[in-house]
Amino acid sequence: MIKLTKSNAKEIKAFIEAQVFKKVTRMSIKSRKKDGGEIAIMCADGAQLVDKIAHRILSTLDRERAIRNTEIIIKRTIEDSQKNNDDEAVVIAKISKAVTEACIKSIKRLSRSVMLHILTANGGPLLIPERSPLNVNNARNFLMNQIREAIQIKGVRNIVLYTHAPCGAAGPVCMDIKEQLQLLFDAENELIIRFPGITVTRYFHVDYSSLPQPGHKSKETYFVSREAWEKLKKWGV
Ligand SMILES: [Zn+2]
Repeated sequence: MIKLTKSNAKEIKAFIEAQVFKKVTRMSIKSRKKDGGEIAIMCADGAQLVDKIAHRILSTLDRERAIRNTEIIIKRTIEDSQKNNDDEAVVIAKISKAVTEACIKSIKRLSRSVMLHILTANGGPLLIPERSPLNVNNARNFLMNQIREAIQIKGVRNIVLYTHAPCGAAGPVCMDIKEQLQLLFDAENELIIRFPGITVTRYFHVDYSSLPQPGHKSKETYFVSREAWEKLKKWGV
């Protein structure tokens, strides 16, 4: 298993301090059909990102609504059982059945409202820039065609780029975090030119579990700020 290096951790710390990496507490949700849906481009070895995708689908608002609905269901079932003079076991069974049914119903409703098109490839967005060391055997052309098709077929207007560390594709070619970020911004620039009218959002996921860092959870997702990155570049960092 590829591990986070000390040098990676040092770079990440510096990017957090420079606010290029901003901790994500609540992700912007564009994966809804009404928001035009979303294409997520990610590295294949970043399985942990699936958690983040689930997070995107189920927003904080949905969670709050789900808790409220569950409380209402339980209250109604208890009132109903009191009228019927049900014993405790029957009340519990009725609540359990009602809550399960409500959960299934809301999952079905949510999945109908989400349009999320996930494209995974080793290296993910880092394959997009022509100059990328990961762009071998037409990898870039393959991914670009997949994106074009997704835009044409589904009419998706939002693209989310996920990069991560430690990365099984970036590690072997000795790509540092700064180079990954440069490729990430190059990828964004290229997508904006190729597909006018789309929006691009960037995230960087760090798995600290192989090299725990004080003050960080074992897995963190950061929003990558273009503004802070450009400021750093201006200073020649
Ligand atoms: Zn990777």
